[in-house]
Amino acid sequence: MMFHGKITTRDHLLKWGMCVDSHCAFCPGIESQNHLFFQSGYSGQIWRLLLQKFNAYRVYFIWEEMNARLFWESYVSLDVVYHRIVACA
Ligand SMILES: [Zn+2]
Repeated sequence: MMFHGKITTRDHLLKWGMCVDSHCAFCPGIESQNHLFFQSGYSGQIWRLLLQKFNAYRVYFIWEEMNARLFWESYVSLDVVYHRIVACA
């Protein structure tokens, strides 16, 4: 993980015994570092906008596939990812 546990998120506060709402500020998900930066739909939209801004939006589909495999245990074939990328060309 890019921050190596250095970002204090609500899941950490709960583990430390603090009485806080566990929900993400952006969606109904449980706030953790992974959620905040990769799983939340809000962060997904931010990543998408940033990648478009820097003309690297095609990378988004690879990033999206990585997240699907890591967090949702689902995947599509290489051909599907490739066709998604080509469709944006
Ligand atoms: Zn969220």
